[in-house]
Amino acid sequence: MSRPLIKITNIKRDFELGNEIVYVLKGIDLEIHKGEYVALMGPSGSGKSTLMNILGCLDTATSGTYILNGKDVSQMEDNELAEIRNKEIGFVFQTFNLLPRTTALDNVALPMIYAGYSKQERNKRAIEVLQQVNLADRMDHQPNQLSGGQRQRVAVARALVNKPSIILADEPTGNLDSKTSVEIMKLFNEIHANGNTVILVTHEEEIAAYAHRVIRLRDGLIESDTSKV
Ligand code: ADP
Ligand code: MG
Repeated sequence: MSRPLIKITNIKRDFELGNEIVYVLKGIDLEIHKGEYVALMGPSGSGKSTLMNILGCLDTATSGTYILNGKDVSQMEDNELAEIRNKEIGFVFQTFNLLPRTTALDNVALPMIYAGYSKQERNKRAIEVLQQVNLADRMDHQPNQLSGGQRQRVAVARALVNKPSIILADEPTGNLDSKTSVEIMKLFNEIHANGNTVILVTHEEEIAAYAHRVIRLRDGLIESDTSKV
């Protein structure tokens, strides 16, 4: 088997809350290969977002190692992590996290500014990904002029714009009605079919059914890890 894209070993994450330490992730081991389509499930508070934030280099573990694409990101300084986050990770949030008063085009192109592309290159690529999410006709609209599903499409386009190694989505349909959720999941299916590695968190079994592997967390540990054959 090829080298995993993600290899985490004995990841723990705890938080200091006043005089107390809250142990959230209690020793997670996980390998994910290129092209996988993974749903991460588990009760509220089980540590899903904490794990996703570590996978997305938005947070670092208290202990344990994280090898991403052959690089040990658990040892990296903040500036190196920021670069990995920008180049290797596309993150989609439940609440979209778009810049207000900024057009869809500029929201999507934003990660390319940090990656150092020219304005011409940024706009060309941003239009390309907006076409991919079927929203090129809304590129001049600001988030408050778009529906929830359209906002999430913009967020997905932004996640794709730098051609990352992994797409991470934390409850991407959590703020959407069921019809719109299905549309967004069809979009993730397409993204996966294009060769992307996709990891998404969901509470809903119907959403998780789109993935090919389901990992369940409970109380900071992996309870089960099941792949469809
Ligand atoms: P999930 O996404 O599965 O609902 P989270 O990963 O968000 O769970 O949270 C797991 C637990 O960790 C919760 O009890 C939460 O309160 C705690 N937690 C998460 N982030 C922090 C933090 N920054 N400081 C203190 N506790 C935190
Ligand atoms: Mg969460």
